[in-house]
Amino acid sequence: KQELTALAFTDSLTGLSNRRKFTLDARAAQQQDGALQFLMIDIDDFKKINDTLGHDAGDEVLKKTAAVIGQLSAGHLCGRLGGEEFGVVFRGDVTAACAFADRLLHDVSAACVPARTISIGIAEFDKDADLSVSYRLADRALYLAKHAGKNCYIVAADQRAAA
Ligand code: GH3
Ligand code: MG
Ligand code: MG
Repeated sequence: KQELTALAFTDSLTGLSNRRKFTLDARAAQQQDGALQFLMIDIDDFKKINDTLGHDAGDEVLKKTAAVIGQLSAGHLCGRLGGEEFGVVFRGDVTAACAFADRLLHDVSAACVPARTISIGIAEFDKDADLSVSYRLADRALYLAKHAGKNCYIVAADQRAAA
């Protein structure tokens, strides 16, 4: 039964929490003290990797990216949201989350040969609102990061002054 539970909560390709588990953990974190930030992470030009090098090469990039996210997220929460998208619930303020995002950008590109890049959207994880609210704000910030040229992070607009 324990094995089945682990399978139901784990993304089989990357070994990270799957979306179901990540969502449950994120909701539990909302009940705890301390500021939280929500990071939405998306691999840049991932379709091109699949199309030019094949699906297996794409899977390898997913695994390497997930490993970096998993290592750096020790003490925080992370999971694979689906496809080439990952989520992190970061314990700390927005300034610390920006430093964390910088480290992610650096370490992911260093982990892959040739270097791969990611884009990140950051939003405060509002404890009084449904998870979907922070999710949407982080997703919008991610969209702006893509339009700013990718390989960067963007903080959701209403928080920028604090960053
Ligand atoms: P952008 O820089 O704007 O994020 O573009 P993108 O190419 O990364 O994004 P897009 O959404 O166009 O493509 C995502 C691709 O990810 C399409 C899909 O086939 C692929 N994909 C989703 N899940 C997996 C997986 O488990 N393994 C592999 N190899 N590819 C996957
Ligand atoms: Mg995507
Ligand atoms: Mg992408």
